[in-house]
Amino acid sequence: MAANKKLLMLPGDGIGPEVMNQVNRVIDWMDKTRHVSFDVSEDLIGGACYDEHGESLTDKTMAEAMNVDAVLLGAVGGPKWDNVERFHRPEQGLLRLRKDMDLFANLRPAAVFPALAEASSLKPELVAGLDMLIVRELTGGVYFGQPRGIETLDDGSKRAVDTQVYTTAEIDRVCRVAFEMARKRQKRVTSVEKANVMETGVLWREVAAAAHADGYEDVELSHMYADNCAMQLVREPKQFDVIVTDNLFGDILSDCAAMLTGSLGMLPSASLGAPDESGRRKAMYEPVHGTAPDIAGKDKANPLAMILSYALCLRYSFDMAEDAGLVEQAVRNVLESGLRTGDIMQPGMTEVSCTRMGEAVTEELGKLAG
Ligand code: NAD
Repeated sequence: MAANKKLLMLPGDGIGPEVMNQVNRVIDWMDKTRHVSFDVSEDLIGGACYDEHGESLTDKTMAEAMNVDAVLLGAVGGPKWDNVERFHRPEQGLLRLRKDMDLFANLRPAAVFPALAEASSLKPELVAGLDMLIVRELTGGVYFGQPRGIETLDDGSKRAVDTQVYTTAEIDRVCRVAFEMARKRQKRVTSVEKANVMETGVLWREVAAAAHADGYEDVELSHMYADNCAMQLVREPKQFDVIVTDNLFGDILSDCAAMLTGSLGMLPSASLGAPDESGRRKAMYEPVHGTAPDIAGKDKANPLAMILSYALCLRYSFDMAEDAGLVEQAVRNVLESGLRTGDIMQPGMTEVSCTRMGEAVTEELGKLAG
């Protein structure tokens, strides 16, 4: 008999546990109705872990994260831990997870639900129906390149250095992730760099083309300079299916694409590592938002980014596209029905709590599957 799918839940701090509770509701529903069972373990991370163990991630939890099929994370941090020594700060736990699991590909979908098109900073007709994915290289490039630092020169002025560096292998593996993701979508990849002025850009373009020629010809590949991509994202965002780019450009472009969707509370993300012998990739799924200390504990958080992160987990870690689609459709229907948490509230709609939003999604799932 096939082993159950193993999922590690790390709710974290602030609104993390509140939004994770709503995912538990969906998991329970899937267990009872779709007969999809997960071995779910839950553990502490971030400030909650520091309070209990004096560190933001224990070795035991790290080992568990390496052993499971996927990690679902809420969010970490908050003012309570602002003065904790740097090494034990809540975000260190998260950084260690990303590093030790070698999660080199960060997937940030930017999808606009029709009911929320008005919430975008762009005209509704430009974003209604938008559904794109940015694949950002996460463990290399200028944020990690050596040498780096600030030195004082003989005349007392200073000189700062960052190094943008990429190897063939680093570019190749993230481009392959993008091609594989595109196969599950509209089969179009735009590779983004600045080959006109950067050596890493020249290599990026060369390696992206070589990876594409090595078995991905069914996917359409085009190349674009990063500055043009920023322009195109706000001019005509629906032209994109999958964008693959480096760490720095990906950081900026994914935040830009996020804003097209109007709300932080709606944005899921996934981070993937290299495949093992069985083809399984290490993976972590988390909402883009933080712990929202201003509304934590008040049952006001929007749980949809967390629930949509779970849908990504179903699609990418467990190849359960149908179930993922069901969850996404349930979210769409709930929004169409006029329910809103405070962050996405619009005139004429009904404001509901985090708990009620989670209940509404599972009720909708019941209708869809019924
Ligand atoms: P934040 O995302 O927590 O909040 C920004 C604003 O958006 C707040 O007004 C908040 O109320 C609102 N918001 C965020 N998510 C929401 C949701 N699901 N529903 C409704 N409203 C939502 O960012 P911040 O205020 O800059 O950071 C707060 C804390 O979170 C800090 O300690 C920061 O370090 C941490 N943080 C953690 C992560 C992570 O764990 N990945 C990411 C970002 C920030």
